[in-house]
Amino acid sequence: MCSMTELINKLKSGKALSKAEFVELINCDDKARGEMRSLAEKIRIENYGHDVYMRGLIEFTNYCKQDCYYCGIRKSNLNCDRYRLSFDDIMLCCEEGYGLGFRTFVLQGGEDAYYNDDRICRLIDGIKKKYPDCALTLSIGEKPRESYKRYFDCGADRYLLRHETASREHYQKLHPESQKFENRIRCLWDLKEIGYQVGCGFMVGSPYQTSEYIAEDLLFIRELNPQMIGIGPFIHHKDTIFRDFSDGTLEMTLKLLSIIRIMLPKVLLPATTALATIDPRGREKGILAGANVVMPNLSPVQVRKAYQLYDNKVCTGDESAQCRACLETRINSVGCRLVEARGDSKNI
Ligand code: SAM
Repeated sequence: MCSMTELINKLKSGKALSKAEFVELINCDDKARGEMRSLAEKIRIENYGHDVYMRGLIEFTNYCKQDCYYCGIRKSNLNCDRYRLSFDDIMLCCEEGYGLGFRTFVLQGGEDAYYNDDRICRLIDGIKKKYPDCALTLSIGEKPRESYKRYFDCGADRYLLRHETASREHYQKLHPESQKFENRIRCLWDLKEIGYQVGCGFMVGSPYQTSEYIAEDLLFIRELNPQMIGIGPFIHHKDTIFRDFSDGTLEMTLKLLSIIRIMLPKVLLPATTALATIDPRGREKGILAGANVVMPNLSPVQVRKAYQLYDNKVCTGDESAQCRACLETRINSVGCRLVEARGDSKNI
């Protein structure tokens, strides 16, 4: 068995770690965590300098046909106030975002039948024609390969689809029988083959998660080699069956951000809103642990509280301009700067 420093060096050298070795890293003590944090920050600077990219998140619908046990907008949550933004609403969000310097828009939503492929393509077309210098990211769940191809051909650049967990056994504990692990994974490979810049990811501390499951996530991420990885703590939601489970921790999320930055030096790694929700300086700590992306909300303030994936989500009351200014101060406080750029991944 090698020492922690040897394991960290092995990860840094690009060599494949075994599942058991990942488990050791995941369970490492504070000293090794500190070592990984410093190394991850150094690697982030080597690859992206002090730049932090911003993505304008437009949560355009909270209708969802899926029933993920952890999620506040799952279809069985009858207490959720449902809304969907219109084409014009969404274009207004982009207009405001563009004026604030955003050069990536992320359209995220539940799996909403109203937004069929024709309507999604109309949106992609409208945004890309008006803002040809911007990247467009979709995060609208599991679709047939043909739909993904249509969106790509219409001009969508990137797609975020967290795999949620790379263990079939764990996946079925987080989702109803009708939602299949194989389909989620199939989607990610399809997206990659079609040519998207792809993001996968998972919640840290989700119910029933073990170190072994996280090790499987890291093995899967290494194999998929995506352009972006979204990880943030699981946070319970009062109207889901996981309401009594504890939330993921700051320490474990930061540790995993560092491990991922060391493993994939050029990947894009967001410091998530969920991280900012469990700690008032969560985003800043995320950046210091290796993250280099923030995704503030561009949705109209009236609907923000209704996109409640988990309890106590932060930043739901602020205007987009306020969010941008607040983030800028926070990012500057850790020696970085928010940049107005598309911010494509260097992990190609
Ligand atoms: N429907 C799309 C999908 O399935 O990818 C995008 C929207 S979905 C709400 C976005 C992500 O929110 C999920 O991939 C999940 O990881 C995260 N999420 C949902 N509920 C959460 C919770 N209780 N705590 C933290 N993250 C959560």
